[in-house]
Amino acid sequence: MQEVYHAFGKLDVVKGVDLDVAPGEVVCLLGPSGCGKTTLLRIAAGLEVLQQGRVSLNGGETAVPRGRHVPPEKRNVGLAFQDSALFPHLSVLENVTFGLKSEPPLQRRQRALALLEQLGMAGYADTYPHMLSGGQQQRVALARALAPEPRLMLLDEPFSSLDARLRDRIRDDTLHVLKKVGAATLLVTHDPEEAMFMADRIALMRDGCIVQTGTPRELYCTPCDPFVVSFFGEVN
Ligand code: ADP
Repeated sequence: MQEVYHAFGKLDVVKGVDLDVAPGEVVCLLGPSGCGKTTLLRIAAGLEVLQQGRVSLNGGETAVPRGRHVPPEKRNVGLAFQDSALFPHLSVLENVTFGLKSEPPLQRRQRALALLEQLGMAGYADTYPHMLSGGQQQRVALARALAPEPRLMLLDEPFSSLDARLRDRIRDDTLHVLKKVGAATLLVTHDPEEAMFMADRIALMRDGCIVQTGTPRELYCTPCDPFVVSFFGEVN
């Protein structure tokens, strides 16, 4: 995305953001609560209409203000947001295969079961969402988002409701699956430690702007601004 601005009424929320994610790369959009991360993700997904700037996916122009707007379902993006929003009336397996309608049933089933296994959810295929913990639901939501092998994965605080004990393992498993699928991934988090662990590159945001983009090492070792130093201050 280039030169993206976004306002809700009189509130300027995104103030000129340039951001690229390459295939197979995980970029963490990191910053304090309210700085505009989720809004940027929603713009990339097509859930917010672009007001200013441009958004391109897969080499093609996807949105320009008052012009082209490719809707979310045509963007080949996988979405997993904080609220996993699984379909309550479908089993875990049916939730994961939901977006795979064009494939033969056996193939759909195998792909979904493999993903569930990779995310530590083997054995839950016939369970319904209300029988799962928040963390388990989040893992199913990740599997559902990954199942169609999207070119772009958009993840908003995907590990927020996991307990600390599970979090490291699921982060690890998710990273493994993302790299295997080769999706470009934009992951929103307010947790510097999570960004350090997951990211190939971090884009650190403050108040609607990206302050610095670079590898975790670059941000940690060569911060360009006192804000970057203060943000990483608590990571050891
Ligand atoms: P973050 O993800 O970094 O916490 P958000 O993108 O969710 O930040 O929100 C940025 C700002 O925009 C916040 O001040 C939030 O209250 C405001 N905001 C987000 N969505 C809306 C909306 N639909 N209407 C009005 N204000 C919004």
